[in-house]
Amino acid sequence: MSVASHELKTPITVIKAYTQMLRLLKGQYSDKVGEVVEKLEIQTGKLVRLTYQLMDVSKIENGSLQYDLIKIELNSFLEETVTMLTNVHANNKINLQLGDGCSVMADPLRLEQVLSNLIGNAAKYSDKNSAIGVATFLSEEGGSITIQISDHGMGMSKDSIARIFEKFYRVEDIVSSHPGLGMGLYISSKIVADHGGKIWVQSEIGKGSIFYFTLPLAVPFKQ
Ligand code: ADP
Repeated sequence: MSVASHELKTPITVIKAYTQMLRLLKGQYSDKVGEVVEKLEIQTGKLVRLTYQLMDVSKIENGSLQYDLIKIELNSFLEETVTMLTNVHANNKINLQLGDGCSVMADPLRLEQVLSNLIGNAAKYSDKNSAIGVATFLSEEGGSITIQISDHGMGMSKDSIARIFEKFYRVEDIVSSHPGLGMGLYISSKIVADHGGKIWVQSEIGKGSIFYFTLPLAVPFKQ
């Protein structure tokens, strides 16, 4: 898997660069061609993400997933990340409800990856215009923060809940209707665990899902 994902990475990076070049040449081609370029860019973005996910899975397998930990002020980090993801998922309104300010020791790129996976799934497995909630609250003892991502989408069964963080697991009903490889939650759960946190989900079919993950605070919170 390691060799395959690296072999994929090179041509895909080149295709991505050419698509970006094409976009810069806008004005030299018709609107119709512009639409094709836009589609090309979206699909290339998906390929890039899948390739990076494959590389991450292979890094998890051989124990080489590494982290550059820094102290992060969580509320401003969430504001920035959610604003960025609001542009990506323009159809869904993302409501951010921030609790008390706190900081965590985390790898910012990996933390962004977890949020992007959970918010991306909330958008992907919900109706086009449904709302997504992102909220934080401190644990009672003040040693960790819980981040919650909720949706009003299709939800999932108890059997699926039990298997959702397994590598390559996907709910059977969505396999042909929604693209994906079932790697995102496996990678997210590994990232959260490596930061000393926990991840879990509450869900009901037809009602929606709430994903939770915790992170230990860099400095325990005192009331
Ligand atoms: P992918 O979305 O690429 O399949 P993930 O690992 O992110 O991979 O998710 C695994 C599976 O969990 C999905 O295929 C889907 O069946 C289910 N799932 C994840 N998030 C949600 C959600 N918010 N609502 C309903 N089902 C979900």
